[in-house]
Amino acid sequence: MLDTRWTRLAALAAAAGLTACTGDRGTDGTAATGAVADVSEIASAESMEARLAKFAPVTLTFDESLLDENRRTVVKNLVEASDELDRIFELQAWRGNADPASWLPAGDDAESRAAREYVRIMVGPWDQLDDGRPFIDGVGPRPTGAGSYPEDMTAAEFEAFVAQYPEVADKLTSYYTVVGRYGDAIVATPYSEAYRDRLTAAAENLRIAAAAAENASLAKFLEERADAFLTDEYYESEVSWMRLSDNLIDPTIGPYEVYEDALFGYKASFESYIGLRDPVESERLESLVVYLPSLEENLPIPDEHKYLDRAFTSPISVVTLIYGAGEARKGTQTIAFNLPNDPRVREEEGSKKVMLRNVIDAKFVTILKPIAEMVLDEDQAARLTVDPYFTRVLMHELAHGLGPDYVTGHPDLTVNKALRDLYSALEEAKADVVGTHSLGVLAAQGVYTEEFQEEVYIDHVADMFRCVRFGAEEAHGKGCLIQFNYLWENGAIDYDDETTRFRAVIDLMPGAISDMAGQLLLLQATGDYAGAEAFLERYGTMTPEMLGALERLDGVVPVDIRPTYAVKEMMETW
Ligand code: ZN
Repeated sequence: MLDTRWTRLAALAAAAGLTACTGDRGTDGTAATGAVADVSEIASAESMEARLAKFAPVTLTFDESLLDENRRTVVKNLVEASDELDRIFELQAWRGNADPASWLPAGDDAESRAAREYVRIMVGPWDQLDDGRPFIDGVGPRPTGAGSYPEDMTAAEFEAFVAQYPEVADKLTSYYTVVGRYGDAIVATPYSEAYRDRLTAAAENLRIAAAAAENASLAKFLEERADAFLTDEYYESEVSWMRLSDNLIDPTIGPYEVYEDALFGYKASFESYIGLRDPVESERLESLVVYLPSLEENLPIPDEHKYLDRAFTSPISVVTLIYGAGEARKGTQTIAFNLPNDPRVREEEGSKKVMLRNVIDAKFVTILKPIAEMVLDEDQAARLTVDPYFTRVLMHELAHGLGPDYVTGHPDLTVNKALRDLYSALEEAKADVVGTHSLGVLAAQGVYTEEFQEEVYIDHVADMFRCVRFGAEEAHGKGCLIQFNYLWENGAIDYDDETTRFRAVIDLMPGAISDMAGQLLLLQATGDYAGAEAFLERYGTMTPEMLGALERLDGVVPVDIRPTYAVKEMMETW
């Protein structure tokens, strides 16, 4: 490991002092969130019990008889490793989570109890559903870099240092380091050092699980992932995760998404999803993968930005989620994901989609259908079924694997690094619109009926009401808001003043969706930070009509589900 040597060298070199950052975009990179920083200091008056009620409790269970004794050993150890990562994630979310006694209400009244419960959901004192405002008295705004940077570090300071000491840029911008200060220098500590005790324990659990695993590909992944926890070298285990096959137990465990790092979008958060794979459903969906090259070809951008020779192996796992931890359990619940994020792996192996079938079903019944019934014209709401929803979720995930990974003409510059803090929201919006656009391409090829595609458009509009409720500061929420406003501006969403209900204008949806897809893909292909910023700003404000609809949903339809996992109770008898 070079990290320590690198960082110490940087510390010595930095004794010469910092130069001022001229910046090439006139901001310190926090413009998007900075605009909210002033109001973020004011805690909203909403009661803790009302906040808690927005999350409908759901118990996620599974068929215990699928697990023989060996499998139970595997699952039990995966759950225990997940809990270690959960503690690490608390620190990644906010360093203050290490010392909750200094800020967490300790009282035994209902409000204090609800506050503690809500802190558990939000993994800290900021409400994701309230644009990140604090909900605990005396707590300031959320640090932009969460727990991965010193709380007062600005993007300008960081960028100036990186510009002056380019030899440490890789370490400082790595997915797997924590950033700190050492005198005048900015230093990077690898995760394996920063979180050594927990990662050592988690690695030990993974090795026990590997030894009990009957499936060779699973054992290989777990062994390599255990190594990665201690070396920060994730590449090999990411590849093995892609090559898991014929496994019932389907773990996704490690540092993955960069959403928490609103400063730059560099730092990967620890999380874990433990699933049981449904081989029949998985194969049914994998039959769609043969169409991926044609979907890349049909992206609404010039050919020079397409990846026509990309490896589209793209495995799909449909799983029953039995346990989630770390970022996976924070706030709004993930229904599907597309990993890994490492572009080297994606280029060579494609990426894998994991669909959390029981979570998708629970959200459709508890949230999306009731929302549609309140905000859409009745005839359109009636057409909404779980199938187009499930298919669109799948296409969203497949679409994360379509389009530019690198800025065109800059083979070393990933889109993620070019768009930094704006990347996550833009990428989520892209996945949505490219997904719906691509389903249109498939419908035109006869894979789906035209009627089904209409239901997809209706579902797309209904779903934006579901996901803007995640808050305009959250990547998916912001991604939904800009889509809604774009479709609204282009007439693809209609509104009736009298009924105060919306409808998808089916005739205009295909054009508006592919126009927007083209614009988002081009911003990514060109790594156009200023353009992305302008796009997010232009479409990032809620219209009064949408606000009105959200107010009507408030307190009536829950915003999300709050899972508890039956496996914990089962484990006690194993
Ligand atoms: Zn996504």
